[in-house]
Amino acid sequence: MTERIGVIGAGIVGLAVARELARTRGAEVIVLEGENRVAAHQTGHNSGVVHAGIYYQPGSLKATLCREGMALLREYCAEHGLPYEEVGKLVVASTAAERPALRALAERARANGVPGIAELDALALREVEPHAVGVAAVHSPHTAIADFPAVARRLARDVAELGGSVRLAHPVKAIRETASAVEVLVGRRKFAFDRLVACAGLGTDAVAKMAGQPGEVRIVPFKGEYYALAGSAKDLVRGLIYPVPDPRYPFLGVHLTRRIDGEVLVGPNAVLGDVRALLTWEGTRRLARRHWRTGLRELYGSAVKGAFVRAARRYVPAITAADLAPTEGGVRAQAVSRDGGMVDDFVVDLHGRIALVRNAPSPAATSSLAIARHIAGIVPALAR
Ligand SMILES: Cc1cc2nc3c(=O)[nH]c(=O)nc-3n(C[C@H](O)[C@H](O)[C@H](O)COP(=O)(O)OP(=O)(O)OC[C@H]3O[C@@H](n4cnc5c(N)ncnc54)[C@H](O)[C@@H]3O)c2cc1C
Repeated sequence: MTERIGVIGAGIVGLAVARELARTRGAEVIVLEGENRVAAHQTGHNSGVVHAGIYYQPGSLKATLCREGMALLREYCAEHGLPYEEVGKLVVASTAAERPALRALAERARANGVPGIAELDALALREVEPHAVGVAAVHSPHTAIADFPAVARRLARDVAELGGSVRLAHPVKAIRETASAVEVLVGRRKFAFDRLVACAGLGTDAVAKMAGQPGEVRIVPFKGEYYALAGSAKDLVRGLIYPVPDPRYPFLGVHLTRRIDGEVLVGPNAVLGDVRALLTWEGTRRLARRHWRTGLRELYGSAVKGAFVRAARRYVPAITAADLAPTEGGVRAQAVSRDGGMVDDFVVDLHGRIALVRNAPSPAATSSLAIARHIAGIVPALAR
């Protein structure tokens, strides 16, 4: 009998998992997505950067799955004629005080096996980005850009071609595990699966609760706002220009990002979304208390335009306020632990027949094909 597997969420992670399970196990996979299109949430509202693995704690899932995921994604895009451009990334120190952190970043990148890492001085960095300024930079020539929604749509096609299906407008409302199956309720319709994998992004806590596994972390929404460079200002940026990250946050800081469609974005900041409903949980209260100085809402970067202009001009002084127009942002799903700390690594839990992706923030889009392999490896095949 064919194994039946349900996947909740048609973001890039859920679709990659569905394809992997259909491809390697011959399972019949059904993806249940609440929205009426794939990639409606984080997957369709991000910077579009294929990270090379510079930042992450060596040995962590993020470090290993980002490196592996990047290689798999490059191959996948080539195979399917999807856009993928190695525009390269500069991480720029704009003051001497940032040099030690920049040096540490270069060492970490090498420890993670990121290819081609070079440390550049003020002059050499301008050969890479002629309009950028800084005292030093780390250059990652293989950091790339891709069209994640297009990848997600292609993955959905793969699932269908492998005999599975992606059911849109199918919001999961209840989950029940029995001795022989896991039952999933969508409206009045009941699905019965041998296994269920939840890749629900911002919906993770709700799904975990339905599965009777609220767990020790909660998802906190962090809005990321962007501006886009207008007209000829786009020519001031060739690839990707990033600040030296603040180690207190899992976010990379407001950056300048060339996108696959030719737009150049400035952002995202990280503004705490509406957490009123989450304040009953001690982890969120502690997070709020810990960051009260910066203001509960404005955790990293400021929501006002002036702050984006300053952030952009710090690295590319020729940019002016008139060059920046607001554009669509996204909301990150970031897990926070009971002690109020932001969970850094990817987290996947197994409970009986159910696998729950608890934390898949950036670089999970980059890493999606490798996360899928990882999950296929830990979800046991059904013993029949
Ligand atoms: C502003 C921003 C910038 C980022 N930049 C980058 C970047 O440059 N590079 C990178 O690699 N990553 C980046 N990321 C992170 C990346 O976008 C995410 O890690 C990745 O998209 C996560 O994919 P996902 O499938 O887990 O989540 P999502 O894309 O959010 O998908 C989850 C899906 O689950 C569905 N769902 C939830 N609950 C239910 C339910 N009950 N029933 C049915 N369906 C449900 C939702 O509708 C949604 O479609 C960024 C994220 C943001 C927000």
